[in-house]
Amino acid sequence: MPNAQIIDGKAIAESVRDEITKRAAKLLDESGKRPGLAVVLVGEDPASQVYVRNKDRAAEACGFNSVKYTLSADTSEADVLALVDQLNNDPEIHGILVQLPLPDHIDESKVLRLIRPEKDVDGFHPVNVGLLTAGERDSALVPCTPAGSLVLLKRTLGDTLSGKNAVVVGRSNIVGKPMASLLLQESCTVTIAHSRTRDLPDVVRAADIVVAAVGRPEMIKGDWIAPGATVIDVGINRIPAPERGEGKSRLVGDVAFEEAVTHAGAITPVPGGVGPMTIAMLMVNTLTAARRLLNLPEEEAIF
Ligand code: NAP
Repeated sequence: MPNAQIIDGKAIAESVRDEITKRAAKLLDESGKRPGLAVVLVGEDPASQVYVRNKDRAAEACGFNSVKYTLSADTSEADVLALVDQLNNDPEIHGILVQLPLPDHIDESKVLRLIRPEKDVDGFHPVNVGLLTAGERDSALVPCTPAGSLVLLKRTLGDTLSGKNAVVVGRSNIVGKPMASLLLQESCTVTIAHSRTRDLPDVVRAADIVVAAVGRPEMIKGDWIAPGATVIDVGINRIPAPERGEGKSRLVGDVAFEEAVTHAGAITPVPGGVGPMTIAMLMVNTLTAARRLLNLPEEEAIF
């Protein structure tokens, strides 16, 4: 069996960011405004620091006005809420992202619900969740990772996914559920699998499209993948890699890539697949939010 096409998330993300850079320049011409993104980081979680730095850099590279708020881990919930309130009312800010997880003493859902839905570029506010679930994707801000996964699917399979059997493994609010809503809106027949699903290998074998968002290294084996299926591996798992030297580690997805590549028609690598798309879609959402808040007509959808 021939090897699968490797879906180049890095290149696709770059093409999306290039398009957004052009659109940001056009917005500046039309309105004199730059899309404004505020990223709030509370605490010193090293992974979150890296994400926030990458988001900030990407926003600047696209020509956005990017503002970073770094608060100490002992910042009170009231102070975080006050900052969100201030950003909600700041006309130069069109997108607000509060990096998760927040320290334990801060109620995450309270913070996320205070963000104005029109500025909720992570797409986690119940209003955006509701719009997406109601099939009104084009009025919502859609969570970045599933939106990016859909872009990868369309760039690989073409714009019509109608009638395909899609299996999403994982039912988180951040990835699994919104991914399933997006695929349903594309008229796929969607199955959502999770830790209580029976006969998971057989469920996955029925899929034309597999989206893995589990958080378990290489859990989905090659022989679970139907011949020719398209596999989007959202998982990012760090595992020990003693072969690279003492104490070294490496990143793997939720799919056993070396096995799956001999079954799938196309597959995303980890790293270099879904990861870069998440940040690219944050740029898309921020530009969309800016155009809506400035009452400018929407542009052609990216996905
Ligand atoms: P999560 O909130 O931990 O959800 C994991 C889901 O997997 C849950 O629904 C869980 O089922 C299911 N699950 C766990 N063990 C399972 C098993 N043995 N069989 C079937 N299902 C099982 O994780 P998440 O936030 O969705 O993230 C998933 C992965 O994606 C992680 O590796 C994360 O790092 C990665 N991620 C990547 C990006 C990116 O930019 N590429 C962004 C976000 C997340 P239950 O609900 O039944 O417990």
